Amino acid sequence: MSRLFRLFAIPVLALLAPASFAQDKPPAHVTIKVEGTDNVYVFRSGNRQSMFIVTPAGVIATDPGGYGQPQRVPAYLDEIRKITDKPIKYLIYSHHHFDHISGGKPFKDAGAKIIAHKKAKERLAVLKDPDTPLPDETMDKKKVIKLGGTTLELTYHGLNHSDSTIAMRLPKEKVLFVVDILPVGSMPGRGMIDFYPLEAEKSIQSILKLDWNTLIPGHPGQPGGRFGTKADVQAQLAFLQDASEAIKVAAREGKCWDGVEKEMQLPKYESWPGYKNNLQFVLRRYCALWGRGT
Ligand SMILES: [Zn+2]
Repeated sequence: MSRLFRLFAIPVLALLAPASFAQDKPPAHVTIKVEGTDNVYVFRSGNRQSMFIVTPAGVIATDPGGYGQPQRVPAYLDEIRKITDKPIKYLIYSHHHFDHISGGKPFKDAGAKIIAHKKAKERLAVLKDPDTPLPDETMDKKKVIKLGGTTLELTYHGLNHSDSTIAMRLPKEKVLFVVDILPVGSMPGRGMIDFYPLEAEKSIQSILKLDWNTLIPGHPGQPGGRFGTKADVQAQLAFLQDASEAIKVAAREGKCWDGVEKEMQLPKYESWPGYKNNLQFVLRRYCALWGRGT
């Protein structure tokens, strides 16, 4: 287990033995209590993470994440039940992508009200995914949920990763849960397929202005599954700006798509996990912007 990981998170349940992170194969799932909080947890299964908050009046859960791994949903509910028998009052969708939000029916059946950004509901209404229940309630710019002494603030920062992503912030705990816009310590990858480059920079600057110390990403941070800090967000923003600038120059020399996709490297970032596999997604997305105008 890395030192950084220990700084930000402590394991609470049996599946996470201290040696687990030294092994190649991570445990099937694990629940982590976020250090410095009384009641904020992360359920991690495979490569996905969801935040949940346990209060005396009930539970606020997020992102069932059942796409391609339906067993994740009952495991997630079991983990909540190991901590509390209070009702699950809310299930909040971070954005509309199925890898994070499919599989919410058992939460709804347990009485949870599903909340998402209004754009997420619009998308889901058209897509009609059989495994993804529509939100019961939507929000636009901001919504505040208060439950059992905990305040959770939901805010929308415009287009970034998808058009439906919200930031979930716990003001007292200074914890932020944001999915897919802000990889911690690694390169963005397939998420670039649904990404708005120019608007994303503004969104990230807006998220940086919020008052928080700990970022819980939707996928475990690197190295060691750690959570993130504002420095990680600034590094991600700098990467996007560097990539954008380099590809803009190449695009204006007529090198999009093939020239850029086959030849361009961003050597400053080659030590980042995911560089080799994920660079292609970054190059393609910015070529679309600067080489095609979209
Ligand atoms: Zn996504």
